[in-house]
Amino acid sequence: MEHLRIPGPTPCPSEVLQAMTKQMINHRGEEFGQILNKVTANLKRLFQTKGDVFLLTSSGTGGLETAIVNTLSPGDKILSVSIGAFGERFATIAQQFGAEVIPLRFEWGKAADVDAVRQALSTEPKIKAVLVTHNETSTGVTNDLASINSVVKEFDKLLLVDAISSLGSINLPVDDWHCDVTVTGSQKGWMAPPGLAMVSVSPEAWQAYAKAKMPRFYWDFAHAKSYLEKGQTPWTPALSTIFALEVSLEMMLKEGLPNIIARHAQVGNAARAGVKSLGLSLFADENYASNTVTAVATSDGLDTKKMLKLLREEHQIALGGGQQRLDGKIFRIGHLGWVTESDIETVISALKVVLPQAGFRS
Ligand SMILES: *Cc1c(COP(=O)(O)O)cnc(C)c1O
Repeated sequence: MEHLRIPGPTPCPSEVLQAMTKQMINHRGEEFGQILNKVTANLKRLFQTKGDVFLLTSSGTGGLETAIVNTLSPGDKILSVSIGAFGERFATIAQQFGAEVIPLRFEWGKAADVDAVRQALSTEPKIKAVLVTHNETSTGVTNDLASINSVVKEFDKLLLVDAISSLGSINLPVDDWHCDVTVTGSQKGWMAPPGLAMVSVSPEAWQAYAKAKMPRFYWDFAHAKSYLEKGQTPWTPALSTIFALEVSLEMMLKEGLPNIIARHAQVGNAARAGVKSLGLSLFADENYASNTVTAVATSDGLDTKKMLKLLREEHQIALGGGQQRLDGKIFRIGHLGWVTESDIETVISALKVVLPQAGFRS
């Protein structure tokens, strides 16, 4: 597929792909230690944190599981702030490990209401932790995380953040915004292939770790930390993905985080303006529309499945469909990582051709 415009996996620059052809090395050797230390230090800069950052061999969801099992005990009350499919997934993980989940759900397409979060925290004083999705990839909405976090910290609760599709693309200063565990994945905004979850751990999260009793083995933060001190990971890592990430992080630091954030804002604006210029409507509340993924509402007559097929077969463009209850109701344009405004222009031009072919009447 020439134009992969789904919200992950995202395309990789050729220098990044090239790095993956490197021969395997000893993951207990000195060369690997140097690479791991460099990648970890670079990730800390892009996470804007002085806390710990661990590289885990996993997709993003495994990273979400680490956030839960390393900080909580069965029976702990947690508040799940959910605005879509990924918010629900995070809560399900907590529930599976025995947490008592108090759901705070908002209509899909809308952002979380900060006052409702405050209300929920004052109603139930026993809540231990709050789960929040920074950027809800299923609906194309970015929560006002700075405001949500300041409320969570007013109540002195632990804050676990799914930032899988935002970190490295949308501003998220992990320390300034008091995130205790923050999770992202290599195949989203990081211009690298799937295979790694990257997770930050604050000092408060370590205090919670000391008391947390959920079962864990592969995901134990203390193992990750003690091995990282030796320049290693506890288990055999996805070496090729780490080689790729080493290169993509250097490209990111060369561009500079403020420039990357500005580029995503520009591309996000172009996607929204382009979609509207075709007579389509955004699914997300525009005040909170995401700069990494644009969700588009299907209008009368438009057969989304047919449209996606035409884009694939006649224009070599892959867009995302809707997930779960949004299947057939929206489609999504991914614009994170290695993406420019001209990539979005290509998508909009192709949409202009296929929309009438798929029944859309503007
Ligand atoms: C992609 C994504 C996930 C899931 O990540 P996997 O790598 O597929 O496990 C979770 N949350 C958000 C917000 C995502 O965008």
